[in-house]
Amino acid sequence: MFKKLVSLFFVMVMVLSLGACSGDKAGSKTVNNDGMLSDELIELKAFYNQNPDSEDGQYETFKEAAKLTNINVTCTVPKSNTDFNQAFNLMIASGDIPDLVQTYDPTGFARLGNEGAFVPLDEYIDEYMPNVKKLLEERPDVKANITAFDGHIYYLPMIPAGVASTGWIIRQDWLDKLNLKAPTNAEEMYQVLTAFRNQDPNGNGLKDEVPLFGTRGLDEAMTLWGARPGFYVKDGKIGYGPYEKQYRTAMENLVKWYQEGLIDQEILTRTGDFKTKLVGDNVGGMCNEWFGSTCLLNDSLADKVPGLNLQPIAPPSGIELNRRAINYPYGWGVSAFSKHIEEAVRYLDFWYSERGSLLMNFGIEGKNYDMIDGKPVFKPEMLADGKISANLHKEGAQLEMGFLQDFEYERQWINETGYNGMKMYEDGGYIVEQFPVTITAWMTDDEAKEYSKLHTDVTTYADEMFFKWMMGSEDIEKTWDTYMNSLKKFGADRLIELQQEVYSRVVK
Ligand code: CA
Repeated sequence: MFKKLVSLFFVMVMVLSLGACSGDKAGSKTVNNDGMLSDELIELKAFYNQNPDSEDGQYETFKEAAKLTNINVTCTVPKSNTDFNQAFNLMIASGDIPDLVQTYDPTGFARLGNEGAFVPLDEYIDEYMPNVKKLLEERPDVKANITAFDGHIYYLPMIPAGVASTGWIIRQDWLDKLNLKAPTNAEEMYQVLTAFRNQDPNGNGLKDEVPLFGTRGLDEAMTLWGARPGFYVKDGKIGYGPYEKQYRTAMENLVKWYQEGLIDQEILTRTGDFKTKLVGDNVGGMCNEWFGSTCLLNDSLADKVPGLNLQPIAPPSGIELNRRAINYPYGWGVSAFSKHIEEAVRYLDFWYSERGSLLMNFGIEGKNYDMIDGKPVFKPEMLADGKISANLHKEGAQLEMGFLQDFEYERQWINETGYNGMKMYEDGGYIVEQFPVTITAWMTDDEAKEYSKLHTDVTTYADEMFFKWMMGSEDIEKTWDTYMNSLKKFGADRLIELQQEVYSRVVK
């Protein structure tokens, strides 16, 4: 009902605003060599989640962009706002949609775009967006991801650089001390974790080691027995790991490991920065985590944990499930009601240009970074406190909007060990084909409705059983058949088939 009302509202406003828009070409011009996107200064409003530490309404980078483009953007979401989705829904319901709109929900955004709320950017790319045009020609994977079910593109995402970001990391100093080698299969991993558990590698006389920690590692460990923790795609075929017989073997082993104390006993309930805590307490032994931030602990905890040597190792199963996202499922689009659609789409394009990219990756030249030998280099104070992301967000750099992340931004704050981990995983070809996170944005309304019900029923039940098995409140052998029958009853087969249909239609 709500949706129908909103749709009707859009149609009405569209009709009214079309007249107002059509003659309104003032200020627009073809981009000249000066890079200016408009002859006169144009003010655009952006529905954008602000950093609480930034200047209210406007980021430093947006001010700098205004000098370069003659388009000034101010944010409309109050800094005090804590619930983006709620604010977004209120904004949509009010019908007052600012020129630029941020989204964290490409699926919902696609539907609103289809109903007329947002500009189909694909219709503007050839004429007004040279940088985006070039990018999408070079990156058909990104293009497929961001194209909605109706064939249009309604938002432009942030695109990270690089492929590998996570993988297995182990206490190499513990391996050395116990005269062990990095594990290369399930049995060796069991032996290593058991030695970490029983042989007191931290040398305090207590059996306090936490051999395997972090839920990411639990998911990745399933591949040791050929299982997958969730939906996946392999050779173009979609499957659901928890609905396959290898999953039973994986669960049986992981439950055994958990019961033997090889896996963190609090693994499913830990929150916050558990990595720093467990490594800092000199108890954590092995995890599957972010190479960059985890390997930095070697530096930041060197005084606290003598001899600490976290090292990336090749995946013991030979595969790694997670790659860095092809693009993040957030970005921004243009309101269909904007009086400056041409300028707004050009402005989105600016952030993918060389100049815009420098600004969004590194912040303000002279303040956040210096150009040294033609390369942007962060000022030491930006890196000194180990909070480079927060420091940049405050200025309005590395924001969650459409731009190309430059790997050099990350390279400057990670250490050699973290970098080597990324390189090892990329060069090793360990990372498997990725299940598309935006698959729901590719679905028609009918498909999305069917999917939503099935997906909730199936995954809620599977997650619940996973938890019960791990915690020992249900026995796998006794409940496996009932479990599989229940998944069938909840529609697991149809859920896989439905996603296969959508996937095959989009990914050729
Ligand atoms: Ca110990």
